[in-house]
Amino acid sequence: MLSALVRRVRAHFDHRDQLAIVFEWCELRSADELFARLKQQGLRGVHEVKLTNNRRTMVSIASRTLRVQEGFLNAPSTVHQAIADFVMARRGAAKLSAQRQIVAHAATIELAPRGRRVERTHPDDAALATRIAEWHQKYNDEKFNSELSMIPIRVSRRMKSRLGHYTPKRTGVAPEIAISRGHFRCHGLEETLHTLLHEMVHQWQDERGLPVDHGTAFRRKARAVGALPTATRALK
Ligand SMILES: [Zn+2]
Repeated sequence: MLSALVRRVRAHFDHRDQLAIVFEWCELRSADELFARLKQQGLRGVHEVKLTNNRRTMVSIASRTLRVQEGFLNAPSTVHQAIADFVMARRGAAKLSAQRQIVAHAATIELAPRGRRVERTHPDDAALATRIAEWHQKYNDEKFNSELSMIPIRVSRRMKSRLGHYTPKRTGVAPEIAISRGHFRCHGLEETLHTLLHEMVHQWQDERGLPVDHGTAFRRKARAVGALPTATRALK
């Protein structure tokens, strides 16, 4: 009985953490979007941000161009803050501390081989993936006027900190929606379908050529299709 209670409490905290991460996480797709975010975090005196896939260079600045390793594009906002601080701090403890955070994040980056999926749905999760794909179709017909493309739905065993993820279409990368298996097991089908709907709003943004973010267009569409705006869920 007690252990069940403890488990419930723990599940509750896990749940809150995950929602908080979804709230904070806002996907960036380009060097320009990263540039805009870094400026919000205090970056000044830089004319351009470029992404590199050079493993040795994490962050470098020359002739007012800031080069950032592409693995930092969707780093946590604390790491983006460290990049802004690193550029802005001349020397001393602040610069050193920012540098440490950048190096620590670099150690977590696994560069994905180009054109290859990093993870596939586990065979035991295939039925769940099919079930979610059926809901994707149903929601598409009912809420999106059948406007969305049919895209692969993947169930992920690796995703621990995020409930769901939409991969925008890019050259050489096919779009997909990934749903965390842990999320389904912990929170059930109803919550999972809500996450699906949230990711479908991102798919809608992408297919319309809108930025994939949680901005005004996202909130308006989310309201229209009955997905709670992320901020509201996070505050719940
Ligand atoms: Zn989102």
